[in-house]
Amino acid sequence: RAKLNGRNQAFYYEASDEESYSASYRLERDFLSAIAQEDLYLVFQPIIDLKLGKICSAEALIRWHHHEHGLLAPDLFLPELHRSGYLPDLDIYVFEKAMAFITAHKAQLGDDFCLNINISGQGFSEPKLMEKIQHYYQYSSHLLSHLCIEITEQTIVDNVEATQKTIEQLHTMGVKVALDDFGTGYSSLSYINHFTFNILKIDRSFINNLIKGPNNTIILETIIQLSKSLGIKTVAEGIETQSQFNSLKQLNCDKGQGYYMVKPVTSKELAQLLIENKQFN
Ligand code: C2E
Ligand code: MG
Ligand code: MG
Ligand code: MG
Repeated sequence: RAKLNGRNQAFYYEASDEESYSASYRLERDFLSAIAQEDLYLVFQPIIDLKLGKICSAEALIRWHHHEHGLLAPDLFLPELHRSGYLPDLDIYVFEKAMAFITAHKAQLGDDFCLNINISGQGFSEPKLMEKIQHYYQYSSHLLSHLCIEITEQTIVDNVEATQKTIEQLHTMGVKVALDDFGTGYSSLSYINHFTFNILKIDRSFINNLIKGPNNTIILETIIQLSKSLGIKTVAEGIETQSQFNSLKQLNCDKGQGYYMVKPVTSKELAQLLIENKQFN
């Protein structure tokens, strides 16, 4: 009989049907109580306007302070929530928390400031999320102009028509839509042509490889130029060094996000950073 050993192992645990039933049952139960007790919370990573060197947006990222396993990164529990069908519940939770942040800090937010949230493929086209957004649209639509929803290519692949329809509805309500992790899938170029994304987030792997030869620079430059001509803003993910920062600025990438500038912070710290209006070079 296999044993659960050490922290975080529980969610990778391969087991007999009976055992895995109880493991996933436990996670489901943990998830529901974690939501009820607010053990799940958002951290915020600022996104910098590379030209101005100022914070222009932020991405909300989920964390789980598990009562037994400690702090869990999303890569550990998202696959399990996916299997048990709980991602749409997480998405609603994240959406509500994000709207609470926007509501609380509205006065400090510049007109163009966006809070980005990651929404799963399962949750994106679910009526429940759209109903929540429609509710805001009806009663406080001005808040929605500060919201941007990040989806991945997988969401499109899973359901092309529903995704298209949802994106159009979001645009009608003033919500922006970003394509996350661009360049990690297969047919990305056709997607940016057929779907009306406001923002393209260039995957970290491209930024990592930036210094590893001239071809990478040419590819990046092409992505950035193509996006520009389609009216799509580009965000470089995972900027870790000064030289990556400088190169992306030179390539006219609009925005950047990464440990070199700021790691994800608490909502209080983000509010403080917005007040400070710090310069990033
Ligand atoms: P993502 O949406 O592409 O988010 C960016 C990830 O890169 C975050 O990891 C962030 O902490 C990390 N990152 C930022 N700057 C750097 C850097 O300079 N270097 C490196 N190595 N990493 C950097 P995180 O928070 O662990 O999230 C991982 C993934 O989990 C996210 O990738 C997203 O796909 C998913 N995720 C996170 N939060 C949520 C959520 O609230 N809902 C859903 N459905 N998915 C989420
Ligand atoms: Mg993201
Ligand atoms: Mg990403
Ligand atoms: Mg990712």
